[in-house]
Amino acid sequence: MVDVVVVGAGNAALCAALAAREHGAEVLVLEKADRSDRGGNTFFTGGGFRFPYTGIDDIKVLMPDLSEQELERIDVGSYPAPAMRSDLKRVTEGAADPAMVDHLVNNAYDTVRWMREVHGQHWVLMYGRQAYEVDGKLRFWGGMITEAVGGGEGLSDGLFQAVERAGIEVRYGMRGTGLLTDEQTGAVTGVQVRTETSIERIEAGAVVLGAGGFESNIEMRTRYLGAGWEFAKVRGTRHNMGDMIKAAIDVGAQSYGHWSGAHAVAWDLNAPPTGNRRIGDLYQKHSYPLGLIVNIDGERFVDEGADLRNYTYAKYGREILKQPLGAAFQLFDQQTVAMLRDEYRIREITKGESDTIEGLAEELGIDAAGLVETVAAYNAACQPGDFNPAVLDGLHTEGIEPPKSNWALPLNQPPYFGVAVTTGLTFTFGGLRIDAKTAQVLDTDDRPMAGLYATGELVGGLFYHNYAGGTGLMSGAVFGRTAGNAAAQTALA
Ligand SMILES: Cc1cc2nc3c(=O)[nH]c(=O)nc-3n(C[C@H](O)[C@H](O)[C@H](O)COP(=O)(O)OP(=O)(O)OC[C@H]3O[C@@H](n4cnc5c(N)ncnc54)[C@H](O)[C@@H]3O)c2cc1C
Repeated sequence: MVDVVVVGAGNAALCAALAAREHGAEVLVLEKADRSDRGGNTFFTGGGFRFPYTGIDDIKVLMPDLSEQELERIDVGSYPAPAMRSDLKRVTEGAADPAMVDHLVNNAYDTVRWMREVHGQHWVLMYGRQAYEVDGKLRFWGGMITEAVGGGEGLSDGLFQAVERAGIEVRYGMRGTGLLTDEQTGAVTGVQVRTETSIERIEAGAVVLGAGGFESNIEMRTRYLGAGWEFAKVRGTRHNMGDMIKAAIDVGAQSYGHWSGAHAVAWDLNAPPTGNRRIGDLYQKHSYPLGLIVNIDGERFVDEGADLRNYTYAKYGREILKQPLGAAFQLFDQQTVAMLRDEYRIREITKGESDTIEGLAEELGIDAAGLVETVAAYNAACQPGDFNPAVLDGLHTEGIEPPKSNWALPLNQPPYFGVAVTTGLTFTFGGLRIDAKTAQVLDTDDRPMAGLYATGELVGGLFYHNYAGGTGLMSGAVFGRTAGNAAAQTALA
């Protein structure tokens, strides 16, 4: 019997394990994957974290090595807590659980500090992805400006190193399949796991679930997200099958959140069915606000400039899935090609280039007549104004549907460049209900379930319809730390 068992070994679970260990609890981490495949979706991420900050001084605390030269070159602006709260409310159409949003926003900055100061996580500004050079300065935008050094891989490795330093045992190849409960009280007393050769029952004073969503489970995603989702590619781990969501519901946990919702983005058309650890997140194609998106008929179907990229990318994957063959094409010209993110410069990209729109259509397999007509109508609809990619610049179209509301430069500077994408499913929004202050799982009567805590993608209630970039890792860390603290206190009481 151990004090605290943590199921899963992504960012959320390992933050819980570290927090529980700080209380002196004996902690055991059970990871379904083998060691070589460990780390869940966290490994595949860009490592971007969203948290409120009041200005450069808050950032300097996290990155004390920022040089004077760097400081002169950058403008991080500020991202006050009310702005983060309102972004989370806005993108979720007001549906995000207010108590969870408050707990997240109130604890986010303190948690990234904790990760650095107590557990040695190094942070760096997101120069390549979240800053544009405007008037000689690199201006950061969009509320997510910080990433873990080494991206998702660096974050995952750093967390495993911290876990090792803390003396926490991690057992690999352990698939949680059920929860043990006390026959008299119903309290959760441990986890049932399946290994390659046996079934084991592991007893614990408290259990923290951090085993991800159900995005890799074809049956569950078709059942809950809807028809067509079986065809989506999975951006990350193949191990998140919803096992522990089902196990918790089986012993009385309450399901919560947007079960038919998911985070899904534009992802290379020829990417493999699940994530490739060498490529990581680079199959994503997130620079579409700088260009146009069309389907195979050459028709536009979303407002590419509706908002800053961080607030539209996670819902546009669903729109791509609705298009013929589930395919879409992002088109750029020489005005913006140099500004495209790093992911447009990998070898594993499905791309085309041409001096003419017809030629580009042919290269990418788009209906040429349709595309020529769309681009002509779009170019004619572009209004004059100043282009500034670091803010909502209001440079818009008039008289076309859908409009392009910002960054609407005409597509008229050849050679043209285009990429072919499909839907890349990141994670699912539905999950378990927790008490926001303790991360304790609630039962179907809203009562805390003794001995059971949860964090990360298997928790519902925070994300609905859409998502603000960098919130997944941040919320996993905040609620993971909360869950670890509470689980240790329970186990050691
Ligand atoms: C390509 C990509 C890029 C992303 N970029 C970002 C980003 O920059 N910023 C951001 O905030 N979010 C990002 N995300 C979302 C991000 O994945 C999550 O926010 C975060 O990593 C989720 O952490 P987690 O610990 O909940 O889940 P995971 O990291 O997926 O961890 C779940 C763990 O549970 C294990 N597991 C699953 N089932 C079982 C079982 N039955 N028994 C035992 N273990 C089990 C898995 O193996 C895994 O170790 C990205 C996701 C992807 C796929």
